[in-house]
Amino acid sequence: ALQKTRLSAHVPIDAITEHSWLFSSGLKFGGNKSMATIPNCDRWQEVERLRAERNAVANKMKGKLEPSVRQALVEEGKNLKEGLIALEEDLVQLTDKLQLEAQSIPNTTHPAVPVGDEESSVVRKEVGSQRNFNFTIRDHLQLGKELELFDFDAAAEVSGSKFYYLKNEAVLLEMALVNWAITEVSKKGFTPLITPEIVRSSVVEKCGFQPRAQNTQVYSIDNSDQCLIGTAEIPVGGIHMDSILPDSDLPRKYVAYSHCFRTEAGAAGAATRGLYRVHQFSKVEMFVFCRPEESDKCHEELITIEEDLYASLGLHFKTLDMATGDLGAPAYRKFDIEAWMPGLDRYGEISSASNCTDYQSRRLGIRFRPPPADHPPTHTKKGKGSSGPTQFDHTLNATAVAVPRLMICILENFQQEDGSVVIPEPLRPFMGGLEMLSPKT
Ligand code: AMP
Repeated sequence: ALQKTRLSAHVPIDAITEHSWLFSSGLKFGGNKSMATIPNCDRWQEVERLRAERNAVANKMKGKLEPSVRQALVEEGKNLKEGLIALEEDLVQLTDKLQLEAQSIPNTTHPAVPVGDEESSVVRKEVGSQRNFNFTIRDHLQLGKELELFDFDAAAEVSGSKFYYLKNEAVLLEMALVNWAITEVSKKGFTPLITPEIVRSSVVEKCGFQPRAQNTQVYSIDNSDQCLIGTAEIPVGGIHMDSILPDSDLPRKYVAYSHCFRTEAGAAGAATRGLYRVHQFSKVEMFVFCRPEESDKCHEELITIEEDLYASLGLHFKTLDMATGDLGAPAYRKFDIEAWMPGLDRYGEISSASNCTDYQSRRLGIRFRPPPADHPPTHTKKGKGSSGPTQFDHTLNATAVAVPRLMICILENFQQEDGSVVIPEPLRPFMGGLEMLSPKT
């Protein structure tokens, strides 16, 4: 119900508080301890009662007893144990179901977010304009064929549809895009990372994705509790799981390179042609851990970095403040960038920047301890004033470079009449000075 509420309106605060015990009372996703904290759960109370009785029986058996009394207690203990096993199994299933339900509860939304579905999203910035071509243009598939950049047919045989081989200069272009983005973003104080691409399903869940739901975008690995990542957001989000970051380190910023794997369940049609929607692609992702009061500012910083990157490539694009219906569960606010793709004859999403506030850090257990000046010292077991209370960090993620979509933009926007393509200047130093891709024949 809450998911639906999010589609048409800001989530009312009482709807959130009504469910807040799920997150504040110690319910840990993926942990068995959770049962102990579920209120009003008859079955849990029954388990507690049976455990207490079993313990009482065990205590009674400690003393010296008549054999007949001991035998009766042994029988009673056995019956209690059998009853407990059945109920505990029941509770594990119930907890699992509850966790799935809880995971579908979205974050709250920023008051400025437009309410409605995707069409209600608001343009907050526009850079450049559509290029006028005085010749018949090619789409990226045609250009790729003439320039011998891709092989979709061989990939379809080897892997399946929506996979591709990159060939020749496309390989250099992918590496140049990745190298350029990491170089530019790390100049701004972001620590570069290359992440694991297989992660535990529990970490995927804690980041707000649902590997176990129907129509999930996540590839799970058979006979394991692991998944392929759909985005580096997951391993980077998990890097500080269950830890307290020093306040002086915040905001902590990463720029991470990884491959991304997506089932793209339900995706079909012209919008998915060629490189636009594929099962495996390379991406450079920015990720920030910060104090709650600075997350709006960090969000602005991330969107500015994205806009500067794409403007320096010479792309025409729009930045959108995405409406409530298009936010996804973890995002409190999301800015997408859509760039003009002339061969596809439409704007296509090239990046997304989300402020997830404390939605992910609550689940991942990522905290910081504000300095004592901000909070009066508290009395702890360790001694007077030795530490203040901790708070959950805010987390943000944003695309620096999603390679296939930028390849589409570069090929389609910078094509020449003879089928050659001009390489944007910032990428040339990362391609051995190459200025142009030329047809092979
Ligand atoms: P997301 O992590 O879903 O916000 O996606 C980040 C960016 O990756 C999007 O803005 C797209 O540019 C790109 N992207 C997402 N899914 C795909 C896909 N299946 N194939 C190619 N690029 C994608």
